[in-house]
Amino acid sequence: MSEGCDELVIGDFALAAEVEAEPGGESLRRCMACGTCSAGCPVREVVPAFDPRVIVRLVALGADAEVFAGEGGGLLWLCSGCNTCEERCPQGVHLPSLIRAVRNVGVRRGHVPRAMLAQVELLRQHGRLLEVEEHNARRTKVGLPELRNQAADYQALLELAGLGWAPKPGGTGGTEGAPGGTGGTERTEEAP
Ligand code: SF4
Ligand code: SF4
Repeated sequence: MSEGCDELVIGDFALAAEVEAEPGGESLRRCMACGTCSAGCPVREVVPAFDPRVIVRLVALGADAEVFAGEGGGLLWLCSGCNTCEERCPQGVHLPSLIRAVRNVGVRRGHVPRAMLAQVELLRQHGRLLEVEEHNARRTKVGLPELRNQAADYQALLELAGLGWAPKPGGTGGTEGAPGGTGGTERTEEAP
């Protein structure tokens, strides 16, 4: 996604149809481009290039390259899901859900930031976003009960969510191994 649209390539609207078919993407065509969402977005205050109105318009116009520009889809993943935009939108566009729908489509097309893959890998290995073994050593010292490694539970959830393909991060790009991508599907299996 870029701030200017000088070289915008408008597509065939297949992206819009795919996003609308995704749970959360149904309100795409309600947008009248008023910009109320962008005016109140706290993420945009910090990162001006992140603009929810622009995301919606680019998706509606089928500008796939702009929507998924940057490493692993780039700016799309900055939305914090705070719901400010949704509460203010005069058209009832469910923007946080819509942006999640766009991300989901992006993931299926192989656009996943490396930071997200790193988090998936942590969940796969530990069932949490931290290494419980290291954490437990500190907890034991102060008399707290150990945390359980929930790797098996989360591995089952990742499979159900269709994320069993996700590769380990640290490759040449954040998209390898995604459906339609070029990487492998190495899994880390650990006992809970
Ligand atoms: S506030 Fe709603 S109608 Fe206005 S640009 Fe944002 S999504 Fe579109
Ligand atoms: S939900 Fe996302 S797009 Fe909407 S205001 Fe919050 S950060 Fe911005």
